[in-house]
Amino acid sequence: MNINKIAAIDVEYYKVPLEEVLSDAKHGDHTHFELMLCRVTCVDGMQGVGYTYTGGKGGRAICSLLHDEMRPLLLGKDAADIDGIWDKLQWEYHYVGRGGLLSFAISAVDIALWDIKCKRADLPLWKVAGGASNKTKCYAGGIDLNFSETRLLSNIQGYLDKGFEAVKIKVGKDNYLEDVHRVEAVRNLIGPDRVFMVDANYSMSIEEAIRFGKAIEHCGITWFEEPTIPDDYLGFADISDAINIPLAMGENLHTIHEFEYAFAQSKLGFVQPDASNIGGITGFLKVAELAKHHNLPLCSHGMHELHVSLLASQPHAGYLEVHSFPIDQYTLHPTILNNGFAVAPDVPGTGVIFDDALLAPHLVKHF
Ligand SMILES: [Mg+2]
Repeated sequence: MNINKIAAIDVEYYKVPLEEVLSDAKHGDHTHFELMLCRVTCVDGMQGVGYTYTGGKGGRAICSLLHDEMRPLLLGKDAADIDGIWDKLQWEYHYVGRGGLLSFAISAVDIALWDIKCKRADLPLWKVAGGASNKTKCYAGGIDLNFSETRLLSNIQGYLDKGFEAVKIKVGKDNYLEDVHRVEAVRNLIGPDRVFMVDANYSMSIEEAIRFGKAIEHCGITWFEEPTIPDDYLGFADISDAINIPLAMGENLHTIHEFEYAFAQSKLGFVQPDASNIGGITGFLKVAELAKHHNLPLCSHGMHELHVSLLASQPHAGYLEVHSFPIDQYTLHPTILNNGFAVAPDVPGTGVIFDDALLAPHLVKHF
């Protein structure tokens, strides 16, 4: 008997409220995040837990892909055949997918399969995925465009009090001079030596991004994230040529091919894949290989409770984003900071073990 034969797939859909409304330039207000869990159980009872998340929209469609489409396809398959399943799911739904919701659903399945793989090996993810280290540099990523300047600064101070040595804020106000003022105020607060990034959530035209970039060059910005729409690969290059701040993107690139275009055309300084939407750990590690090939530091977007292990595992890791969606408040191993570094959990599996009792009040549907 093959113990890795898939016997059951369970899909759970949660809507988790945020403590306060969080806003950015293009997605608007966030009041909650959606969490979609995919539990894959093998015939011997071994279970892997995968998941993906959204900023509050699209989750039901992802659950439908997982439960209605993929579940019948996956039952009876070999959970150890991670690459085979990844490829099968990509091509089975290629016509209606090529990224988008499909990549979120594949991510949830893939992370569950990696959880099983690591548990079978009795090893933590950071060792199985590469093993370079068990810790990584990190920054606090604020979703704070709606905050007053006073609240913005108290929020940043809160990050410093927790031990962060690097921070990021949202930009993209209607009047860019207000953004410039906020950036200067944050730099003034954190001092000259801490790492500081800004994120426009693709809200600016190329001309606006260049104007803003030039206006904050004196603030020591480590990267300018998603200045303009992620589809405009060559527009990123135009911005990069015009300003003295490295550019970053990745959270809105949902296929390996989109990353290949970005590496080839966009003159990026940092790349930020998200395992929840690039096809899971398998997709994330494919982007990691591309980043190594192109000599770019590998960063991450979102789900820090998982990415901490993936970035730690890679020798060319840049900065882990410690995201404002508090997914890790619902797990048994919230992210640990040590001297400005985030430390990967040392337990067999992905290290992301949800506290079912904490999540239960937010369950909308169990498929
Ligand atoms: Mg971003």
